[in-house]
Amino acid sequence: MSHTLTAMQALSSQRLWQRLETLSTFTDPDRPWTRRAFSPRFMASREWLTEQMQQAGLSVRIDSGGNLIGRLEGTQPHAKPIMTGSHSDTVFDGGRYDGILGVLAGIEVAHALHDSNQQLEHPFEVVDFLSEEPSDFGVSCVGSRAMVGALSADMLAQRASGAGTLAEAITLVGGDPTQLTQPLYSSGDLHAFVELHIEQGPVLERQDIPIGVVTDLVGIRRFRVVITGQPDHSGTTPMDHRKDALVGAAILIQATQQKAIQMNSEQRYVVSTVGYLSVMPNSSNAVPGKVELMLEIRSNEDHVVEHYGEQLFSMLQPELQALGLQLHTESVSHGKPTRFDAEVVDRIEHSAGVLGYPSLRLPSGAGHDAVYLAGIAPAGMVFIPCLNGRSHCPEEGIQLAHMEAGLKVLLQSIQTIDQHVFNQK
Ligand SMILES: [Zn+2]
Repeated sequence: MSHTLTAMQALSSQRLWQRLETLSTFTDPDRPWTRRAFSPRFMASREWLTEQMQQAGLSVRIDSGGNLIGRLEGTQPHAKPIMTGSHSDTVFDGGRYDGILGVLAGIEVAHALHDSNQQLEHPFEVVDFLSEEPSDFGVSCVGSRAMVGALSADMLAQRASGAGTLAEAITLVGGDPTQLTQPLYSSGDLHAFVELHIEQGPVLERQDIPIGVVTDLVGIRRFRVVITGQPDHSGTTPMDHRKDALVGAAILIQATQQKAIQMNSEQRYVVSTVGYLSVMPNSSNAVPGKVELMLEIRSNEDHVVEHYGEQLFSMLQPELQALGLQLHTESVSHGKPTRFDAEVVDRIEHSAGVLGYPSLRLPSGAGHDAVYLAGIAPAGMVFIPCLNGRSHCPEEGIQLAHMEAGLKVLLQSIQTIDQHVFNQK
């Protein structure tokens, strides 16, 4: 006669590790690890995921947004669900663990609850969100946007070459875009949402801390910047007669690097990048007459996302003017920072402590499905370290011990949140 296991004892790191290995083999063979949303390989991996969910005791459905959802009933039939999950699609040549860790750890939590006969009070749902990475349709977080009513008609009408519209693609994965004119979940429909993910940065690994408790997700602002000077002969134009637009761009690039470095503090995360540059005429014997660049700013502070660009531009204006250069700037996108629910954050941190794992509060510099869920439910995220802080590359890796820590903290957090009554928002 076997003793009754607790759900924590029924968790199997080996089974989760094995599932991570197996799911990652659904890849374009000449381009590991590539599993693009909507591709035949993605569809095959979803069939496999469905089987894994069923083995874990979950009943499986696909919602109108094309999200694959497994559900365990709770003891209180009318309670709102606790949701966990992440995404199974990848970028091109992407990593093996980005996204799938959160989906498969959710399935393992369900498997352990099921095997140990330990029902939560709330229904428990594990989600594979559709197309978190920007697909060929140019839209990211398709499934999580759809869930909260943030997938616009414009987005649904986006086309990818040879693939029709995003709406048609959602239909092909089993969704129903005609239902997406309204949110699938509104504020108050979920008890809570928790997502486990790899950090995708170096902070936890550097400090040798197994658990990150994510406090916020950065806001992202992008500017298109055009610096206009004058194209001239590079041999005959003396240095004091030039209006070199690329010199102006160099000044801007260095200034934004220094400004971002200076603005970082214990509480405030600021990164700024010029990752796109176009030089005209872009010729070895011509003084650059015009440069177009994209300036991106990410921060967990609203104020920084809001004002950083204008501050930088007005600081640079006199210097650029003195060089005979004109500066034109245009804000092309502006996403505000997301603060995770304080009670969820506390419970995740406490859960790590109960299990004896050191943890660190940190913001996320990357976007996640949890951003959208945080708009309608108490939400939080758990990070584990990734190898050398690398992600979105074939070298992305994790340690088994960190995976196990993340898995246990996920279960502990869900059990704690199950017993918690949240303050109404
Ligand atoms: Zn991800």
